[in-house]
Amino acid sequence: MIFHQIPTGGCQSYLLGCPGKCAAVLIDPALSQLDRYVGLLAREGLRLRYVIDTHTHADHFSAARQIKESLGVPAVMHRDSMAPYADMRLDDGDMLIVGDIRIRALHTPGHTSDSMCLVLDDRVFTGDTLLIGGTGRTDLPTGDPDALYDSLFDKLLKLDPEIQVFPAHDYKGRQGSTIGRELADNPRLQKRDRAEFVDMMNCLNLSAPDHMTAALRANMCGGKTVEQLLGDAAANVPFMGMDELRERLDRRDNDFVVLDVRERAAFDTDHIPGARNVPRGQLELVVDKVLPDPTLRIVTVCEYGRISILAAATLRELGFGRAAALDGGMKVWREGDYPVETGVAQPWRGDLSPEI
Ligand code: FE
Repeated sequence: MIFHQIPTGGCQSYLLGCPGKCAAVLIDPALSQLDRYVGLLAREGLRLRYVIDTHTHADHFSAARQIKESLGVPAVMHRDSMAPYADMRLDDGDMLIVGDIRIRALHTPGHTSDSMCLVLDDRVFTGDTLLIGGTGRTDLPTGDPDALYDSLFDKLLKLDPEIQVFPAHDYKGRQGSTIGRELADNPRLQKRDRAEFVDMMNCLNLSAPDHMTAALRANMCGGKTVEQLLGDAAANVPFMGMDELRERLDRRDNDFVVLDVRERAAFDTDHIPGARNVPRGQLELVVDKVLPDPTLRIVTVCEYGRISILAAATLRELGFGRAAALDGGMKVWREGDYPVETGVAQPWRGDLSPEI
């Protein structure tokens, strides 16, 4: 069997391949490693059959949806998963066949209600149910320490002690363990009494993971990350470099408009000479009054060079087909000693309607 463990920032994903049948399965992929998985599959000459999340991750962005969309494979999760993009939902005991590899789902709620471990002949992918020297936490949405106790002591830890353990996280660079070693050494598993175990889990007092809400938005509800939103917009928008813009300002080219989409107070403090100001939140409402000619060449600018991308994408969608975004924001423009002017924004042509 081809086996790759792909670590990233404490998360572990796994690529398993059957060389005889050129079939592969990917377990717990992270969005940041998307291109790496695709490259590995190509290098090994494997075709992906399934992408599996062992549970709804609350601490990082799953790549399951992107992989299923780009490679056309089913995204697999447990039946209790809320993720709208899951195509195949497994029950306890269901088996997937990937070439000569057989993967059995073991429902192990506790860390989350949709947690499952993936059992092969010689190894088990434990997700966050069992970590090396630890267990998953039970204080995040759908977590339940009582259920984790049952999943560990009545199910997972009853597997053959020789079976290798590969968790979804390890923060110390360890590659794996075995059921026997964890039973002997894992501090959390020494609490064999249910009440003691539950009490221990309830008293961990862990801080919430970074990006938890964003990860749940993406992994549980199928939403996009902010980076994806910006990336999608950027793919449809050309940019203008700062030197190019300065040269055009120096030449007094007047065949384009610099559109500053920051709030009015920031614009009044400093802006690119000659820029017009339409705060991003008002763009759709006032654009026809501020920019009456849809064939105008427009360069959007904001403070950090991110919202200006969204603004340029919106303008293009609205028919301003020559809208571009400045490559960078006012912060870099200022630091680069490019020219700025201060002063109150010029009034728009025509008055705004009172409802705006
Ligand atoms: Fe988790």
